[in-house]
Amino acid sequence: MTLLQFIAKRTGKGRRFAKAALEAGQVFLNKIQQSEGRVEVGKFDQLELSGEILQQRTARYVMLHKPAGAVSATQDREHTTVIDLIKTDWAHDLHLAGRLDRATTGLVILTNDSAFSESLTQPAQKIPKTYLIHTDLPIPPDAIAKFRSGMSFDKEKIRTQPALVEMLSETSCRLTIYEGKHHQIKRMFLRYGIRVTQLHRETIGPYQLPDHLLPRKWMAIDPSLVFNPS
Ligand code: URA
Repeated sequence: MTLLQFIAKRTGKGRRFAKAALEAGQVFLNKIQQSEGRVEVGKFDQLELSGEILQQRTARYVMLHKPAGAVSATQDREHTTVIDLIKTDWAHDLHLAGRLDRATTGLVILTNDSAFSESLTQPAQKIPKTYLIHTDLPIPPDAIAKFRSGMSFDKEKIRTQPALVEMLSETSCRLTIYEGKHHQIKRMFLRYGIRVTQLHRETIGPYQLPDHLLPRKWMAIDPSLVFNPS
């Protein structure tokens, strides 16, 4: 939305009022005086009119170490949500950039910047996500080969991107996938009759769960490090 539209709408006083305010030098965008009504207003820009703040919203980027049992939702009647774990007065403004199953632990990213969350979750971006996996049975070579070559999912009509597989023991591995389909990893193993007994997300794109970030704890991501693939 342009400055002219924004001021007209937010004040309810119309475009003529907005134009006059701009001409009178009463409008400041991020503390810089504006006279041009065509300037775009971003959702995290601070806008001041005659000394009064019309918009001020801080962009938030958070990494959470999700514990088992918390649900990847903003509200839930029964279970603790990931939002409940961010005990701040702005937590309600956040949404998830990719979910984890209730039993899955590890890295969850939350933000109020939808352009940022979309950059991490749009399938076309092919963002790598790395998981540490433990299984109930040994992982056979044909499963590993299939994960590495790509696997078809009829329900979503997709073929997965070739995954990276690092075997750690007969029943554990580190797997990097490039999609985020519902229960994707469990379903990949179930094809071979194998149950995933522990699933832990270590990374999403360039973001890695720090060793010092304990389960249930969160930290702000430095916005200057926020990654923009476009
Ligand atoms: N794949 C799954 O099956 N579960 C998760 O929580 C994440 C990836």
